[in-house]
Amino acid sequence: MHEMSIAQNIASIIQDEMEKNGLTKVSRVVLKNGRLAGVVSDSLAFAWEVLTKTGPLAGSVLVVEEIPLVLKCGACQHEFAPDHPISHLMPCTACGEQLGHTVLSGKEMYIDSIDAE
Ligand SMILES: [Zn+2]
Repeated sequence: MHEMSIAQNIASIIQDEMEKNGLTKVSRVVLKNGRLAGVVSDSLAFAWEVLTKTGPLAGSVLVVEEIPLVLKCGACQHEFAPDHPISHLMPCTACGEQLGHTVLSGKEMYIDSIDAE
């Protein structure tokens, strides 16, 4: 499962942070997940649960917040959020152009915050 290795990466990043900052317990991790990052939020939360049953992150919750996809039309420069970002055809809401859009947001994935003590 793709999400499992991502969850492992996140866990090791957080464990590094814990060591660096002398933290012993993490209660909540907020992860921003772009719609185009290709990661299923539910699967990731599930992978996290499995992964943190034991060990230094036991009891922590991974909150996945999705970043909406925002595109900029290559034809008219209009910025828009497509209704169905999974589809290949994402026509500009202003001029209908389907190709050549620039992705302004939605590809990124990052740890937004860590609640720890
Ligand atoms: Zn357009």
